Formats: sequence, C-alpha cells, structure tokens
Amino acid sequence: MSSVLRPRIAISACLLGDRVRYDGGHKAHAVARDVLAPHVEWIPVCPEVEAGLGVPRPAIEVVADDPVRVARVEGGADVQTPLLVAARHRIRALAEWGVDGHVVKARSPSCGLGDTPRPGAGGVGPGLYVSRLLVDLPDLPIEDESGLDDADRLRRFLDAVVARAIRRTSSQADAGTWLSRVLG
Ligand code: SF4
Repeated sequence: MSSVLRPRIAISACLLGDRVRYDGGHKAHAVARDVLAPHVEWIPVCPEVEAGLGVPRPAIEVVADDPVRVARVEGGADVQTPLLVAARHRIRALAEWGVDGHVVKARSPSCGLGDTPRPGAGGVGPGLYVSRLLVDLPDLPIEDESGLDDADRLRRFLDAVVARAIRRTSSQADAGTWLSRVLG
C-alpha cells in the first residue's frame, strides 16, 4: 500500500486562523492555509495560550536579552515563569512526537524568529518561545510567515523539512517529486 508523505510541521496557531492572539484576533496566512495545508500535517502551537494566559490577555513584550525575558507591557503578574514552563513542555512534546519543521509568527514576543523588537533595550531578536526552540532543537528547520511569501526561502525551508520527514518515516518518497507537487 502506498501512502503520501505528509511532513509534520508545528506552526504558530494564529497563522492558521485560530483566534488566539492577545486581542482575540488571528493572523491567518494564505500560503499556510491554502498552499501548504493539503500537503503537510500542521501542529498548531500557541505558547501564550498553552501558558494559561488566556484570550484576550494583556499584551507582553521582550524586556531583556540573553536570556530572553518578557513582561506585561502594563506591568503586573509574572508571565516569564509560566511561559518558560509551557515552552519547555511543548518543545519536549514536539521532540518526542517527531516534528520536521516549525513555522512561527514574525515579531511576536513569544514566536518571533529574530525580528521581535526590544522596547527600551533597542534592537531585535527572537521571542521567548523561539529562543528556547533554537537551543533545544537546534537542527529543526524554522521559518516565519515572511519566509512563506518568499519563493527561495520557502523552497529552502520545505527542502529541509521533506528531507527530515523522509528520514523520520523511512519513506520511499522522492523529495523532488514532493516539492514539485507542492510548489508546482
Ligand atoms: S504569535 Fe504565537 S503566542 Fe502570539 S498568538 Fe500567535 S501563536 Fe500565540
């Protein structure tokens, strides 16, 4: 029996249209939902909801680097501890289950890949969740939604993803054929 290869990719849930943002909204991304969804197995992840911060919730921001620290913009309860605990739990689960890549939401204090602003401190860097992801799963292919809109970045990302998926599943699928089917 032949089975079609479907790489397993974690994704910031708001990019799939889930209303999990701090303001109750989403950031549905057309490439994720329309182009990639038929060919991959999405694993939606929202680090802030998984930390129990709720929807809607007070906005957070990155307040320090190395290690990354976050806090509520308006002050108040500690959010660093629950976010770190949830991030470690989620990343361990992804590693145990086997995941071939991760798509994350740009500029987010949790999910940003490298362009999240540091108000006060200046500059940009990763969000808290992604800072842990980069340490704990250093070989995992990661892109943000701007990479889904860039043909070269998307192809590089999917190339790495499908190679991992073939290794993980011991599939006989051909990576080039899979890429052609997805990207045309
Ligand atoms: S960017 Fe990350 S933490 Fe923020 S809503 Fe999307 S999935 Fe949740």
